[in-house]
Amino acid sequence: MVKYQPVIGLEIHVELNTKSKMFCSCPNDPDERHPNVNICPICLGHPGVLPVINEEAVKKVIKTGLALNCKIPEYSKFDRKNYFYPDLPKGYQISQYDTPLCEDGFLMINGRKIRVKRVHLEEDTGRLIHEKDYSLVDFNRAGIPLMELVTEPDLRSVKEARKFAEEFQLILRYLGVSNADMEKGQLRVEANVSLQATSDKRQVTRELGTKVEIKNLNSFRALVRALNYEIERQEKILKAGKKVIQETRGWNEIRGATLSQREKEEAHDYRYFPEPDLPPLRFTKEEIEKIRAEIPELPQQRRKRLKKEYKLKNLETEFFVQNKDLGEYFEKVVSEFEPGLSHEKLLKLIKLASNYLITDLQGLLKGASVSGEDFLITPENFSEFVILIAEEKISSKIAKITLEGMFKTGADPSHIIEEKELSLMIDEVEIEKIVKEVISKNQKAVLDFKKGKENALQFLIGQVMTATRGRANPKIVSKILHKVLRKL
Ligand code: ADP
Ligand code: MG
Ligand code: ZN
Repeated sequence: MVKYQPVIGLEIHVELNTKSKMFCSCPNDPDERHPNVNICPICLGHPGVLPVINEEAVKKVIKTGLALNCKIPEYSKFDRKNYFYPDLPKGYQISQYDTPLCEDGFLMINGRKIRVKRVHLEEDTGRLIHEKDYSLVDFNRAGIPLMELVTEPDLRSVKEARKFAEEFQLILRYLGVSNADMEKGQLRVEANVSLQATSDKRQVTRELGTKVEIKNLNSFRALVRALNYEIERQEKILKAGKKVIQETRGWNEIRGATLSQREKEEAHDYRYFPEPDLPPLRFTKEEIEKIRAEIPELPQQRRKRLKKEYKLKNLETEFFVQNKDLGEYFEKVVSEFEPGLSHEKLLKLIKLASNYLITDLQGLLKGASVSGEDFLITPENFSEFVILIAEEKISSKIAKITLEGMFKTGADPSHIIEEKELSLMIDEVEIEKIVKEVISKNQKAVLDFKKGKENALQFLIGQVMTATRGRANPKIVSKILHKVLRKL
């Protein structure tokens, strides 16, 4: 039986977080509540105006390209892409056709090399709002710098396509070039998919099948659903001996289906030509190297380093890589531990710090970030807190209460423990006094214990713990209870 292998290529648009728009000084703010406030004659395409290139946007694209192992040609220019649509005030979009800022890169996804064909710079269009029998247009978004990445058709599964898009989003955030929030339209993914019969093993050299481009994907979930739907649809067509038509289809969330939008347009339909109002760009090696030097540690490097340096598990590592601020906080906490500790002790502290950051602290943060102004716990206090737990000065129950106090007030943990009288009771004389009180109040349990009922002892330990508000060390309580009961 013939099996089909999906072949996927992605085109991803990213709104860059520059201060101003791509070719004018309007604020880069798509403010959807106040339409048509961030506009001017340039981004509205009035006659006689001249665009000026936003240098920050160019640098951000090059930075992204370098992070994706791209080559940066010395020469690049902008081109006009002509088409008519009501959200495009000039009647053309300034884009890049044959000389993109970045070419021939790649991104490793689970050990497989996914080639990046190009990354170029263009401008965003306006936003159309469709009412019942009329449409509105908001030009706040028109002219916002838009970066486009195009992959080669190297992705071989829906999962891999999703992973690529997610990893790219994370890289954009590490680079600080975009928030890349899909819900806000800052990251827009279009997926191209075709099927290849895999009845023989020489598929690499065989021609690719006819592809379909899917638009209107507003979330990673939509990307996955749309690709799965489309793969199944194409499979049915091919199994029936028919041919897939090359076209653009839109994902319809409500119907859970892709619907035909239009047949494929060709490059010549757009009558591309060099933008006469903008000078071409030329870069020296020094300029490129200066941008490269600004690239921070990227997610893949950080994954490797965190695992190696702190001996973290995959899940922990991923949590700290995805939640960049928390990962950086974790490293600050660890750096507060004394340098002279034995390797074993240090690893124990690291493990505890990681656990408390990933579980208890997340519960308190409720989605907020440790880099926010409201977050009051200093790395120094957090490390002190972890040491108290490791040295068994506080129980896990008291640790919870202490952390809550630290979170609310920013006070250091020993202060909170003192103030709330939370420190563990280790004074045996004091504990013995409470044990005797509990015994005198619970004669029935004492009798049960003498009859050999083990449960009765557990009950008595529980009573002592309640009387000390959880502060007594349970091991000491058990020891003293045994001692006192034996004497009775
Ligand atoms: P077009 O000329 O239609 O824009 P491109 O070659 O520029 O086509 O590719 C556009 C996108 O489609 C790229 O992401 C590319 O990887 C992908 N693509 C090209 N051919 C195929 C195919 N046969 N199957 C799946 N994706 C493809
Ligand atoms: Mg295209
Ligand atoms: Zn403007």
